[in-house]
Amino acid sequence: MSTAARPDLAELERQTLEEALASRGHQRFHARQIFRWIYRHGVTAPDAMTDLSRELRATLAEAFTISTPAIVERERSVDGTEKFLLRLADGQRIESVFIPDTPGMTFCISTQVGCAMACAFCLTGKMGLVRNLTAGEIVGQVRVLADALEMRGTRFNIVLMGMGEPLHNYDETMKALRILNDEHGFAVSPRRITLSTVGLLPALERLAHEALMPNLAISLHAPTDAQRGELVPLNKKYGIADIIEACRRFPLKRRSRITFEYVLLAGVNDSPDDARRLAKLLAGVKSKVNLIPLNAAPGIPFERPSDEAIDRFAQILADHHLTVSVRKSRGRDIRAACGQLIVEGQKRSPAQQLATLAFGN
Ligand code: SAH
Repeated sequence: MSTAARPDLAELERQTLEEALASRGHQRFHARQIFRWIYRHGVTAPDAMTDLSRELRATLAEAFTISTPAIVERERSVDGTEKFLLRLADGQRIESVFIPDTPGMTFCISTQVGCAMACAFCLTGKMGLVRNLTAGEIVGQVRVLADALEMRGTRFNIVLMGMGEPLHNYDETMKALRILNDEHGFAVSPRRITLSTVGLLPALERLAHEALMPNLAISLHAPTDAQRGELVPLNKKYGIADIIEACRRFPLKRRSRITFEYVLLAGVNDSPDDARRLAKLLAGVKSKVNLIPLNAAPGIPFERPSDEAIDRFAQILADHHLTVSVRKSRGRDIRAACGQLIVEGQKRSPAQQLATLAFGN
């Protein structure tokens, strides 16, 4: 059988694996064992799956394959953050980040190679969209990081805040969450997963109906459409009022809230008036605000506000009874901080640029 026809175990939800096993004359329940090997023990070689029969191991070796991203580079920041450059089966490269003690252990995972959203202050946005990641590649980052950091069996959080816009790759992202959540696999609770989005409205409304509901973070960045439109091109299609309205309707569990991320840019969106407008906008929304002082980079035409301006902005929000935190920048020395993930030499082609102009969806 050619490799192309072989199902990739990394891409299969457990139920699909059960069906694939059944169609080859094996019992469905073996899917649980296989999931435990792959996700709990980090074992991918069928030969090493010692509680499976010789026949089943032979079937796995002959009729299936499993792809795993390869670590090309691993860099460690002075603050303990680690950035991984990973190579996928087709040679494309992505970055994933491990952030310790936030207070938990956090994996920051990519959902696309590049990104189509082109936010004005984000380096990944400069790459354009190269392609979507598959569910197996999204989960594969967790598999690789868990191994490299010897964290199999440890609890960790996952934030979909690496390269890409998760809601622009909706189906594969949701499939990845289901695989991560599988009780025989990593069994990551959706409460430990945060999906960060620029606010693709139709996808956001679809997300509101999912059985598996991650925490939601909205990249807001400005209190008015005029300002936000300059920073987040997608705002011209889906404006602030509609996004906030969708957030108000979003089914939140008791005590949970939506995080609003706000990149602070000196002289652009960091004035006291901006803070007051933001407070007004979020009044009555079950929210918390996460201020992210800009991580400056060459080619990014903005500056980080002064510490005083950051404090003043945060204080005004707090005075308006909003819960506010200022994101501590991690891994800046290795360019692993928010908006700094980029893989050189992977720019999209002009044809891809045109294809992504309509924002897919
Ligand atoms: N596309 C999703 C996921 C990316 S998350 C989203 O936009 O939400 C990355 C977070 O870092 C987003 O809130 C993004 O706006 C923010 N970010 C991007 N570039 C940044 C920069 N240069 N400095 C600080 N934060 C940045």
